Amino acid sequence: MGAIVNLTITMKQPGAGDLGYLLHKNPANLQTFPMSFGAAHVFYSEVGDARTTAVLMLDVDPIALIRKSKSGAETSGFALSQYVNDRPYCASSFLSVAIAQVFGSALAGRSRERQELADQAICLEATVSVVWSHSGPAFIESLFAPLGYDVELSGAPLDAKFPEWGESPYYKLKLRATTRLSDLLSHLYVLIPVLDNDKHYSIDKAEVEKLLRHGEGWLAAHPLKEVIVSRYLRHSRRLTRSALEQLAEEAVEGEEEVAAGEEEKLEERISLNTLRQQAVLDALKKCGARKVIDLGCGEGKLLKILLEDKGFEHVSGMDVSSRALSRLAKRLRLDETLQPSVPGRTSRTGCTVFQGSLTYRDDRLQGYDAATCVEVIEHLDKDRLEAFARVVFAEAKPGVVVVTTPNIEYNVRFEKLPAGKLRHSDHRFEFTRQEFKDWCESIALQHGYQVGFHPIGELDNEVGAPTQMGVFTR
Ligand code: SAH
Repeated sequence: MGAIVNLTITMKQPGAGDLGYLLHKNPANLQTFPMSFGAAHVFYSEVGDARTTAVLMLDVDPIALIRKSKSGAETSGFALSQYVNDRPYCASSFLSVAIAQVFGSALAGRSRERQELADQAICLEATVSVVWSHSGPAFIESLFAPLGYDVELSGAPLDAKFPEWGESPYYKLKLRATTRLSDLLSHLYVLIPVLDNDKHYSIDKAEVEKLLRHGEGWLAAHPLKEVIVSRYLRHSRRLTRSALEQLAEEAVEGEEEVAAGEEEKLEERISLNTLRQQAVLDALKKCGARKVIDLGCGEGKLLKILLEDKGFEHVSGMDVSSRALSRLAKRLRLDETLQPSVPGRTSRTGCTVFQGSLTYRDDRLQGYDAATCVEVIEHLDKDRLEAFARVVFAEAKPGVVVVTTPNIEYNVRFEKLPAGKLRHSDHRFEFTRQEFKDWCESIALQHGYQVGFHPIGELDNEVGAPTQMGVFTR
């Protein structure tokens, strides 16, 4: 037997016996899994309704490591470096490898028999028998505390007989939190190897992918994210830069999605977004539009669909937000889109995207068969609607204009939306069906269009459909 490192996971709340279902490991059995570095064993040190503890015991076998490295069979880099660095005794990337292989479903947040519990924050405690930090206990604490853990470290003097040698860099780590089990495992998966600040071997892009996958939802906002990423990626500058760039995107998305998420979650039951895009696409096809501009195109969800459709000759997008447009450029790989000769593209539609505001006259809006304005008017101040109508219907004057907007009457059907609240924090107003009809008809009359109305989404007898669409034709 080689060196032993233990990870224990304790569930401390009524029904704790269910930990076995969460980990997909039967509390009645001892199970052993062969690993590249030796073996991993799983057993339970206590089982009860109030507390249940599972132990993941790593048995790190230095001989197996040498054999593997000599035969060249071990390619992960992790195992070899641990041996070469003479630190098989403390938790390191071995622990991450074992967590992923032995508790893979739990790490991913899946439970065959107790999915609801897997989705819930539960009262958990984890201990790792030996972690290593040359930067002292404060560093270990600064990794876990921002994630909501109560962190307890017990250090050991380097040698009990010679206290004057000082503290050793080895600690026993105890973490307590009310969190989902998958979050706890993800945090350990990423942060334990970060403690082990070894840089003696190379790693590849696959590690960036793993880091981002397991860091999803928390790493982008972690105060030490640069250190974590750089150490996890073994100080590879190129990989660190790539990972940090991707995390920065996630952080921006995170911010915006807090707001967007509210609206999307409310509406998800009926997948309103998809229905809306389909309805707009149908309306455009019906009138045979070939050159289309999407006004307030946001990140380009509709543009993407239009570009993939061979029925359009040119598709443009305009939005006031430069942030939305830069995300759009990434989403659509705009550079490729602008060169129709790029091989492999399914459509040859041209694409133009620019920044602008719908409430100011803009000659770039001229020359289109149709304009779409999907979930945008409610983001304009009500007293700017007249300017909007002038810019679109009097100045740009496309043959067809498709406008969609929420139907405020339907809001009472969204159980999670408090009474009187609008669907999104940036909505300046939302129209009833009658208000929308009146507004559209007065524009049509004033600017020489006809307008027809179409409900989008589940139609409720009393309150109508969640989204309303007006299609203006000349
Ligand atoms: N049409 C997109 C985005 C809807 S969100 C979709 O359906 O996914 C509303 C969008 O309108 C945002 O991207 C916002 O930046 C844009 N917007 C708000 N005021 C605007 C203005 N005055 N001119 C142009 N775009 C505007």
